Amino acid sequence: MAAEIIDGKAFAAALRLRIADAVPAFEAATGRVPGLAVVLVGDDPASAVYVASKGKATLAAGMASFEHRLSADVTQAELEGLLAQLNTDETVDGILLQLPLPAHLDEQAAVATIDPDKDVDGLTPVSAGRLALGIPGMVPCTPHGCLLLLQDRLGDLSGKDAVVIGRSILVGKPMAALLLGANCTVTMAHSRTKDLPDLVRRADIVVAAVGRPEMVRGDWIKPGAIVIDVGINRLAPADGAAKGRLVGDVAYEEAGAVATAITPVPGGVGPMTIACLLRNTLVAAHRRAGLSDPE
Ligand code: NDP
Repeated sequence: MAAEIIDGKAFAAALRLRIADAVPAFEAATGRVPGLAVVLVGDDPASAVYVASKGKATLAAGMASFEHRLSADVTQAELEGLLAQLNTDETVDGILLQLPLPAHLDEQAAVATIDPDKDVDGLTPVSAGRLALGIPGMVPCTPHGCLLLLQDRLGDLSGKDAVVIGRSILVGKPMAALLLGANCTVTMAHSRTKDLPDLVRRADIVVAAVGRPEMVRGDWIKPGAIVIDVGINRLAPADGAAKGRLVGDVAYEEAGAVATAITPVPGGVGPMTIACLLRNTLVAAHRRAGLSDPE
């Protein structure tokens, strides 16, 4: 492996420390700590694990964590009622609705009821609009984490050719908007893109957010490129193993032999997501209190 391994775990740990360091000053100025409310509907085990780790990280940063668990058969009106109540709760700075929701609920309508100033996941139409217009708002956590890792490695991204593979609302689209905002020349690829390997070969920066194990091969990568692998895919268990290995959307060893730097899976982008969620909560708290953004 010739490439530098981008240590997202260490970067995220340092970011979380900086966030925790900023909480006492906020408390001194306002008489309270920032608060994050997480809403979980139903009992999907993976979602329950995510919610628990978000709550733990929030408390570890010295912030208040409010967890709301609703039963799987909650009505749309009940869910939106809770979100409306959290919108007006002065102790709540950030609201996160854990997705996916059970099939009978309208996800888009529920997300749209969240106050954009408390939308720490950056998923409301207003947040997406602010990002597209380049005005301050809440930026989705995973792509924001990717941008921080790229800026840490490269400094100014101006003029870089970036290819984003995947166009989801959660990752691909906001990632492209952030890279454009950082003056990259951005190409967005998706399942209908023609000649994807050729397109990727032109990129200085490759962000893969597809959900297909090891789809991006080493010979797609331009020598010297930086590869950010957002994908989290669990392979089928090897003989006798209880669980399969986690891999990204990029063939790590192959791409690492050509790239100049690459994020591993796990330990790359993943840890940045929660760190950026805490950062968004801190920023939302400052803005709501009329304070300038923390460093
Ligand atoms: P989605 O399924 O919502 O989107 C996948 C995107 O990949 C779509 O735009 C799809 O195109 C595109 N795609 C699918 N097949 C191909 C192909 N053969 N060639 C090119 N593009 C293709 O996924 P998410 O964006 O939510 O997540 C992507 C990955 O990132 C997943 O592995 C997920 O687990 C992971 N993830 C990791 C996070 C982290 O914290 N590290 C956070 C969020 C996600 P089309 O639109 O045409 O269908």
